[in-house]
Amino acid sequence: MMLIDLYGRPLLNLRISLTQRCNLRCSYCHREGEDSVGDKLSEMSIDEIVRIARVGSSLGIRGIKLTGGEPLIRKDIVKIVREIAKIETLEDISITTNGVMLADLAEELKNAGLRRVNINLPTLDESVYNKLTGGKLEDVIEGIKSAVSAGLHPVKLNMLVLRGINDTEVDEMINFASKTTGFLQLIELEQMNINKKYYENYHKSLEDYENKLKHKAIKVENRKYMQNRSVYHLPNVTIEIVGPTENTEFCKYCTRLRVTSDGKLKPCLMKNDNLVDILTPIRNGASDDELTNIFKEANLRRKPYFLI
Ligand code: SAM
Repeated sequence: MMLIDLYGRPLLNLRISLTQRCNLRCSYCHREGEDSVGDKLSEMSIDEIVRIARVGSSLGIRGIKLTGGEPLIRKDIVKIVREIAKIETLEDISITTNGVMLADLAEELKNAGLRRVNINLPTLDESVYNKLTGGKLEDVIEGIKSAVSAGLHPVKLNMLVLRGINDTEVDEMINFASKTTGFLQLIELEQMNINKKYYENYHKSLEDYENKLKHKAIKVENRKYMQNRSVYHLPNVTIEIVGPTENTEFCKYCTRLRVTSDGKLKPCLMKNDNLVDILTPIRNGASDDELTNIFKEANLRRKPYFLI
């Protein structure tokens, strides 16, 4: 079974926020579009998360991404991965993390069934990293090394490009990625949950980088069902350009549904007025059929935010 929305877009991916708590304070953080500031008490339990993942998978979800907040901050993260990985129809399970706690967890996560990981690495400069995130660069670098040696694949580095802060570091980052993980995502700043002034000061279009990559690449691909992203293959590194979301292509090929850390199905990254609560029904003893109907309702609420 597969759910298709009113615009012909299949529902294939679930992006589950496990917590809004974080061990860093990234100045640019969009908090996955959530508008509430969650606390530990409002988070879903492991059984609730796995139940949502199971029902979603029975409706055609093939990939699950765990995010946050910082997902590795949850003490039960390895168990969550292990339980989700048992769902037979799932083809992909991944985590997006700041990498700070990954050195200690990479091996266990891999053994629990995690396939791949995205690690936020906006800069290779220690003091810039500390100013942007409040964290220590060396922790992330250790996390990256551990992820690669644990056999997670791909290990993608997420570089959010910010004008005047790290935009002169792109070539250096490409070089670093080619020597370490082989995968880099250049991400354009989204104006969500950050103030207008920050966006105006630091937003940088990725067009120039993309034009350079077009010339350097030995192969260029389009990931249709990943917001039609362009992927550039250079000799030792694959580079994806992410964003901007404010375009019709991003929406046209969206195959996602999100789950907020407090258990609401979120049909669109950009909206919070169309959420469908799934956690309260679970806590009130809803059957799988009832949860299926909740998924179907959320799928019907999926709508391209940027229509042509
Ligand atoms: N704590 C984890 C992390 O740092 O990756 C997971 C949550 S974080 C919100 C997920 C990803 O969103 C980050 O890796 C970062 O690259 C990206 N991100 C955060 N704020 C963003 C923004 N304003 N615009 C675009 N991407 C952003």
